[in-house]
Amino acid sequence: MARYTGAVCRLCRREGQKLFLKGERCYSEKCSIGRREYAPGQHGQGRKKTSEYGLHLRAKQRARRYYGVNEVQFSHYFEMAKRKVGVTGENLLRILESRLDNVVYRAGLASSRAEARQLVGHGHFEVNGGRVDIASYLLKAGDVITVCEKSRSSEKIKAVIEANAGRPVPSWLDANAEAFSVKVVNLPDRDAIDAPVDEQLIVEFYSK
Ligand code: SF4
Repeated sequence: MARYTGAVCRLCRREGQKLFLKGERCYSEKCSIGRREYAPGQHGQGRKKTSEYGLHLRAKQRARRYYGVNEVQFSHYFEMAKRKVGVTGENLLRILESRLDNVVYRAGLASSRAEARQLVGHGHFEVNGGRVDIASYLLKAGDVITVCEKSRSSEKIKAVIEANAGRPVPSWLDANAEAFSVKVVNLPDRDAIDAPVDEQLIVEFYSK
């Protein structure tokens, strides 16, 4: 399935909340949320009533867009989450959080998940000493992600790290800016995941 290549701020406006898809702009006054508080398109300011199915669908789409995952991959993650021991919705969120692009973003090594995907794809990162260029690579507790030796002198990488230095890093990651590395201390519990996602509605969406 093709990746969405249109204007990403439209996605936030569709979901009615910030999905932080554009890096620095999301934290500035230029953010479209707040300036245009209605859905995009010709009928964006029209009817607001949503069906039960619509609610479930929006919850799934919001999560998918927030993490930048396509439809097929998202339903694959849901199947994985169902097979794991524990609460399916929480398992799903944990899987999404453990993607390499998400961890690179959360650790402040990229200003958005889209940028993290691009940097990973260009081979700037290693996991436990081996180069990994697959953004969807799923990390485990104890894994250590480092910026490749060669990439550490890259102006782009240095600028990205500097720009994101002030962003808080979640407690389940141990970031070491001087060593250009981040360790996955443990995979997060629901309470440690700061994401605009209602996983229960997603479970209900797939249970229909
Ligand atoms: Fe655009 Fe970021 Fe604001 Fe979303 S949060 S509308 S991507 S600037």
